[in-house]
Amino acid sequence: MKSTDLKRILYTVSDNVRHLLFPRRCIGCGKLTEGLSAHTPFCTECSSTFDTEYNSCCSDCVKQHRACRCFPHTGTKYPQYHLLPYKPGSKKYAVTAAMLLRIKDVPDRDTVLFLAEELKTLCQQIITENGYDPAQCVLAYAPRSPKNYRKTGVDQARALTQALSLLTDLPVVYALRHNKNDRIQKNLSTAQRLENAQTSYCIIDKPNIYTTLSSKHVILIDDIMTSGATLMHCASLLTKAGAKSVVCLTVAKST
Ligand SMILES: [Zn+2]
Ligand SMILES: [Zn+2]
Repeated sequence: MKSTDLKRILYTVSDNVRHLLFPRRCIGCGKLTEGLSAHTPFCTECSSTFDTEYNSCCSDCVKQHRACRCFPHTGTKYPQYHLLPYKPGSKKYAVTAAMLLRIKDVPDRDTVLFLAEELKTLCQQIITENGYDPAQCVLAYAPRSPKNYRKTGVDQARALTQALSLLTDLPVVYALRHNKNDRIQKNLSTAQRLENAQTSYCIIDKPNIYTTLSSKHVILIDDIMTSGATLMHCASLLTKAGAKSVVCLTVAKST
């Protein structure tokens, strides 16, 4: 038995036990709702709001968000894929915003699993559309700052990446390290974000990391892409460390 098969079984057992103790809540509004499951995780109201958000279109390319490949920075060489739109501080896309909070502030496994299942479809598209050999594909993520991790006990990008790895069998390469620079991104301009990203991340100091990344197609996971500065910088670090290509995959893109 492969170790991923064993992990899957352990997760299923622990999820079943967890739901015996804590019945499922809607992953949009958090209300206790009858009849929820991994495939129907929303109450009726959130389900219809989620459908609207999921089927809404990018204002630039007018394609549904999961088909949009526009990157916030023009001229970048790293393709990006995302599932949903997100507008920070707005009531628009309320269910997406609620799910993003749910994986960021508390380790909500039901939301992580639902989003990972959705990301799996995009992951398969990345492999097909770019003609990658799945055996050469790996997952990576930009870790949360140690300060935020200590505060919440959650690294949402890591949780999504590990759940996606279990669903896809693609291995996770722990290639990036956060440099303990705790400047809050949210209030910075695009230029400041890029500068901040450049001092915030580096390739982890492990002897075999360059061999591990060599000739690999890296799918770089994060929860939200705002300016794209962090992802762009991390993608260039991975490329410099030997990755053959990097594609960014996020749950949401800020509109
Ligand atoms: Zn709900
Ligand atoms: Zn677009």
